[in-house]
Amino acid sequence: MTKKRIGIVGGGIIGTAIAYFLTHEHPDAEVYLFEKNTIGSGTTAKSAGTHCLIDDSLPHEFWSIRLFGFKFYTELEKRIPGSTGFEQTGTLLIAPYPEYEKYALQAVDLAVASGYQAEYWKDPEKIRTIIPDLTLDGVLGAAYSPDDGFVDATMISNTLARLSREKGAKVMIGTEVQNVNVVDNKVTGVDTNKGTSIWTCWSIPPAHGRLSLAKRSA
Ligand SMILES: Cc1cc2nc3c(=O)[nH]c(=O)nc-3n(C[C@H](O)[C@H](O)[C@H](O)COP(=O)(O)OP(=O)(O)OC[C@H]3O[C@@H](n4cnc5c(N)ncnc54)[C@H](O)[C@@H]3O)c2cc1C
Repeated sequence: MTKKRIGIVGGGIIGTAIAYFLTHEHPDAEVYLFEKNTIGSGTTAKSAGTHCLIDDSLPHEFWSIRLFGFKFYTELEKRIPGSTGFEQTGTLLIAPYPEYEKYALQAVDLAVASGYQAEYWKDPEKIRTIIPDLTLDGVLGAAYSPDDGFVDATMISNTLARLSREKGAKVMIGTEVQNVNVVDNKVTGVDTNKGTSIWTCWSIPPAHGRLSLAKRSA
């Protein structure tokens, strides 16, 4: 089988997740992960790591993405205890106005339909069983999911990097990509602080675009 050599610049949560899925689902991928510092030490290290089904950070049209991430990290923690730093705290989402209440009710429906526990409470006393000191004047209700919690994004990045390495990925820490060499719109290699790596195919720039050396060079 001809392997496709794939370079990933940046070993944060995005780069390590790309490495994990390439090494686990694409046996024809030869994966190189370049990280200039240590794994999970960039923005990933600052993440609050919310691991929630009930959460207002994404519109519901992205439910399938939320659910995929939730299931993936939950199953990873079950498979390798301690690998995600998961702490199950539950989430309480307070609804202060009707549109928000609609969002919260839909979140509960989506969580329950996906096989998780979630409820919507109108009764202030019920809400106060979770946070006793809450002032609930004007509050319409609250969505609660006991399955939610927090993960440690740096820990997950290190787990994904390790699992990728076990599947053959070359994970190079302390290795800064300084230039991506492109000939005829194809990546032929990268220059790093440790020398030049010659390639015969293509690379993936980091998903968030901040480090898109390959894009810029192309
Ligand atoms: C305070 C805060 C709280 C947050 N809370 C949450 C949250 O609760 N839930 C959530 O989903 N998101 C949260 N986020 C957002 C989340 O942390 C980021 O979206 C995510 O970590 C981005 O990951 P990344 O892998 O794209 O970037 P990074 O983690 O920054 O990874 C990029 C990596 O690339 C490396 N690098 C850069 N240039 C080079 C180069 N030339 N060569 C080699 N390596 C290079 C860096 O050293 C770095 O390790 C939060 C962010 C912040 C700041």
